[in-house]
Amino acid sequence: MSEVLVLIEAPQGKVTKPSLELLTIARRIGEPSAVVFGDADTSVLTEYGAEKIYTYADSAFEEYLVAPKAEALAALVADKAPAAVLVPSSSEGKEIAARVALKSDSGLITDAVDVSVDGGTVTTTQMAFAGNFTVAAQVTKGAPVIAVKPNSAAPEATAGAGAVEAVSFDVPDSAKQVKIVASEPRVSTGRPELTEAAIVVSGGRGTGGDFTEVEALADALGAAVGASRAAVDSGWKPHTFQVGQTGKTVSPQLYVANGISGAIQHRAGMQTSKTIVAVNKDEEAPIFELVDFGVVGDLKSVLPQATEEINKRKG
Ligand code: FAD
Repeated sequence: MSEVLVLIEAPQGKVTKPSLELLTIARRIGEPSAVVFGDADTSVLTEYGAEKIYTYADSAFEEYLVAPKAEALAALVADKAPAAVLVPSSSEGKEIAARVALKSDSGLITDAVDVSVDGGTVTTTQMAFAGNFTVAAQVTKGAPVIAVKPNSAAPEATAGAGAVEAVSFDVPDSAKQVKIVASEPRVSTGRPELTEAAIVVSGGRGTGGDFTEVEALADALGAAVGASRAAVDSGWKPHTFQVGQTGKTVSPQLYVANGISGAIQHRAGMQTSKTIVAVNKDEEAPIFELVDFGVVGDLKSVLPQATEEINKRKG
């Protein structure tokens, strides 16, 4: 069975959930081989299905932007001739994917929300034009390089062989043109990262600028907090919270929209969520067109009741 290379993201050595999701998706296509730059907890990769784990230790991978990683991954693709290359659909992942596809003379698909395999042919699902179209795509030349969005699969603990192979790679000078001169770890909010969270609770203009109820519900559910552009433009939340066409795209198991009308630009960032719930005091609000469950009411009274009930059930 062919190898499927999976680019692993592991900030501070901790393997991200989207990376584990990719190992699960890779198993649909062939044998998952994890590719790790720098330190990562390899036992979790084995636990989630990695048959092989290629590790790279050169400090250049940490010191420069994506080019060294892309060069090394492209060389691995040339060496192993994998059935596919899967990368997380993060900004770094997508840039690496584009470079690898170019160097490997193969096709690139970004922002896939599903990957299926039929008779060895890999087909991806993407949303296009602000989510108005669902696109099925296949790469017809070379090993498909696919950037997959978080929450496209539930990570399955299926133990692989986890054979670790340290790969030495001479990073060419041409890949050392953009050096990282400073970086600061993101200040932790104690909540999950918005694009990776399994549950997102968002607030819009209807909050009137007070996110207390939205945040309390998010914390009861262990969710990330998001915001509409109206809330961000009003200065109530920074742009990193914005969900939508000009913000982040999320695809959680559950998305709860509070005081958000459901403009097309907001939908573009959340409509692939598996279950959508909305609280809005206007029963004609467009958000109700796409919800699985809607509550017509004032979020200031609905959310505290929901939060209290959830906390009660948690004991
Ligand atoms: P509103 O549309 O004003 O809706 C507020 C809602 O809250 C209403 O439905 C109201 O009934 C309800 N409400 C009020 N009070 C309460 C209450 N007490 N309880 C319950 N409900 C209440 N928008 C994004 O979100 N993300 C984007 O990335 C984005 N990108 C854009 C890009 C472009 C090029 C353009 C032109 C627009 C973009 N927008 C984006 C803006 C978008 O068109 C909307 O203006 C925005 O989404 C509206 O935000 P909102 O739903 O919070 O506010």
